[in-house]
Amino acid sequence: MLLNALNHSLPDGMPALPPEMLRATDIIYQRVRHIIPQIEWPVHASYIAAILKTKLERNAIILAHNYQTPEIFHGVADLTGDSLALAREASNTSADVIVMCGVHFMAETAKLMNPEKVILIPDLEAGCSLATSITGQDIRLLRERYPGVPVVTYVNTSAEVKAESDICCTSANALQVVESLDSDRIIFLPDEFLGCYIAGQTKKEVILWKGHCEVHEKFTAQDLRAYRDQFPGIVILAHPECPPDVLSEADYVGSTAGMIHEVSLRKPQKVLMVTECSMSDNVAVEFPQIEFVRPCNLCPHMKKITLPGIFNTLQSMQHIVEVDSRIAERARRAVQRMLDLPLKAAR
Ligand code: SF4
Repeated sequence: MLLNALNHSLPDGMPALPPEMLRATDIIYQRVRHIIPQIEWPVHASYIAAILKTKLERNAIILAHNYQTPEIFHGVADLTGDSLALAREASNTSADVIVMCGVHFMAETAKLMNPEKVILIPDLEAGCSLATSITGQDIRLLRERYPGVPVVTYVNTSAEVKAESDICCTSANALQVVESLDSDRIIFLPDEFLGCYIAGQTKKEVILWKGHCEVHEKFTAQDLRAYRDQFPGIVILAHPECPPDVLSEADYVGSTAGMIHEVSLRKPQKVLMVTECSMSDNVAVEFPQIEFVRPCNLCPHMKKITLPGIFNTLQSMQHIVEVDSRIAERARRAVQRMLDLPLKAAR
């Protein structure tokens, strides 16, 4: 990689970076070169070098969700994973600043677990269709309608909604959370499809809400059958936020962490991950011998996070995420109750 080319790619206002810093990005490129086109790399590399330098100066840590693009996931993140892993990691760091490369509810969860730390998100508008599908007032009305029935809330919700809940869950531990409650009836929200999937595995009655992930609801069973016809022998792994008929076509259903685990166990020749598109790119870096068939459903909210955005938020210390202290304590209790459950293998 020509250092001149890299320094020429620096955005306006970014000071020239020392050669050793730019050279360090070459090591990263060797890992991702079959995923990221070479022509794109000089721009990524100059931002990556600048972010790594600024991160050290701020004593910051960068957390990235599995749906982030490979230049973020493999280029600058200190810790990566699904919502559960990020919630755990966020509660366990000595950094002064946490940059959340994910969506707003994830940054809020990090703030709940680290009230004394500065939590930054590169774009405050990075939302989630599940999180906007329900409000705290909706839960209060549900409690009036179903008195005494415990409320399990998916972490893909605002802190205000978490505060009204008994316990949180992620797609990796939803069944474990539901089974942990001493009640035959559970209110599960907001993801109807995840709730439906859990209802099929428990004897408890599960009361659902009609929230959907705008990315996973787009998959159809017909799509999956077409992939099977086109790629004989393909292994299909699906996320439980997909509609039930899609899940019934899959060879495995589980969280993003569960899917990665499944790929590492089965080592199939060809695999289709029925989830957000960047996840396949990120996992393909670790398994170059496997052919990943990619249905490209992108999450528009996750894609608001970019390398320039990460650099800007670290440099300016803007886009700080706060949670109102009146709701933070109750929301934290619901998240902590989930984290206190024994850690199980990825599902
Ligand atoms: S992929 Fe779906 S659940 Fe995840 S942030 Fe995007 S809209 Fe929300």
